[in-house]
Amino acid sequence: MSQSSEPDRYAVIGYPVAHSWSPFIHGMFAKQTNQNITYGRIEAPPENFEREVAAFFQTGGKGLNVTVPHKQVAVLIARYRTPRAEMAGAVNTLMIQDEVIHGDNTDGAGLITDLTQNLGFKLADKRILIIGAGGAARGILGPLLSAGPEYVEITNRNADRAVHLAGEFAALGNLRGCGFDEVTESRPFDLVINATSASLQDLVPPVPRSIIGDETLAYDLAYGKGDTAFTRWAKSLGAARAESGWGMLVEQAAESFFWWRGVRPDTKPVLEAIKTHKK
Ligand code: NDP
Repeated sequence: MSQSSEPDRYAVIGYPVAHSWSPFIHGMFAKQTNQNITYGRIEAPPENFEREVAAFFQTGGKGLNVTVPHKQVAVLIARYRTPRAEMAGAVNTLMIQDEVIHGDNTDGAGLITDLTQNLGFKLADKRILIIGAGGAARGILGPLLSAGPEYVEITNRNADRAVHLAGEFAALGNLRGCGFDEVTESRPFDLVINATSASLQDLVPPVPRSIIGDETLAYDLAYGKGDTAFTRWAKSLGAARAESGWGMLVEQAAESFFWWRGVRPDTKPVLEAIKTHKK
């Protein structure tokens, strides 16, 4: 696209949204790939979500990232959904094409790229524990199971939600859902993913300490300055590594950017730029 034409308009929509790093990340992607776009923020409480999305696309907007708490409602807005969005039952990326709204979910792919490419972790034949059974857990489950782990356990404060989620994905692999007091304690897991929002309250879910061993990668989907409550806890228990969700955030953004623009940005400079903030 010529740089003299009007830029294509993108934004992240959520509630709250002021804290979102998406404008920074997509701004860097656009510069790097020479794409003529603008990327803003739209704050929309649940009662205004559908109206704001409609207004954005009616006024020429091209694509939206959807964040908390709208990902499940966004499924209903997208007339066509990618298979991974369908599987997740959640949409984090919207795009308009020929006046029709399409929906995708890039969260799972973002996590897998961060784990396998940035952190060098091999998922095949591993034992994985997912703590949490909300929207994010649902989004990452299909892509994780597709990578061929030996076993996946999902544990949640509300145990029924974990059991239900495991049941929904049962055809895709060897998995089980349970409450915090039923977590398998015989030996540490290879990978423990905190997909709860407990870190946002500076809390650690009350899961057994025995899930973490000296070969465990502990990964918190939440991210902030320095350690999260969960990565701090995992390090104190001697985890081999403890990472927060910055890498997933950048990689899911890159997937969205690629879906919208057909150009895959290099995530490394963005991860480097964010590193200075993480400390
Ligand atoms: P949801 O609101 O859908 O789910 C929240 C989950 O956290 C539920 O399983 C809930 O359990 C559990 N939970 C909340 N508080 C506590 C607590 N104090 N103790 C134990 N469990 C708790 O949120 P999402 O799934 O959308 O998001 C989860 C996390 O993932 C957030 O921190 C979010 O920021 C992060 N995230 C990061 C991304 C990234 O790119 N890095 C992308 C997407 C999400 P219950 O069912 O019992 O209520």
